[in-house]
Amino acid sequence: MGSDDKKIKIAVNGGIGFGSKLNANQLLTISKYMDANEELELTTFQQLYIEIPENKKVEIIQEFKHVGLSCYPVGNYVKSLRTCNFCKGEEREGMPVAKELNKRFAGKQVPFTLKMAYTGCPIGCGEPMVSDIGVLKFKDQYNLYVGEKGKGFDAEVGMLLKENLEPEELYVIIERIIDSYAQLGKKRETFFKFWRRIGKDELVNI
Ligand code: SF4
Repeated sequence: MGSDDKKIKIAVNGGIGFGSKLNANQLLTISKYMDANEELELTTFQQLYIEIPENKKVEIIQEFKHVGLSCYPVGNYVKSLRTCNFCKGEEREGMPVAKELNKRFAGKQVPFTLKMAYTGCPIGCGEPMVSDIGVLKFKDQYNLYVGEKGKGFDAEVGMLLKENLEPEELYVIIERIIDSYAQLGKKRETFFKFWRRIGKDELVNI
């Protein structure tokens, strides 16, 4: 790799699965694009940030995907879905729904970084109430939480916006919320400030 190649930062992880894991092949593939003195940044979003040459971005992302890595943009986008470890099983804890949420929404451009989380049962290891948008599976349906404020002395947990949703209802409501935020949110306005500004009633009726 030439030292003059312009680098861009991308986020990678192992996708939605049983825990946040990377296998040896994935680590070897990532390390091919790092010099010995470079570092990987591990974020609170269960992502690794790596810098790659911009002129080889497409091929490198293809190579990463080939070994099972998921790649996402860095910046003001919906982050990849944080999940629990699905300890009671893929189907019982709704992993297909989590995968679909990630596929539909991760990487969408929004006014400010938006965190989404999913948890497979009310024990809540995926911490849905401390994310901008959180989903909790309860029996065979899904509860939707929105609007936490995770930082500062005035931190707040998210509120329950809708409960007992079927998967399709869940996707439609989240899509409307994210689209509204993308269109009506001010530049660098956090999701918490956005929903406070437009009001809970507006959000419920989206
Ligand atoms: S939230 Fe429930 S299913 Fe998910 S890891 Fe925790 S206990 Fe297991």
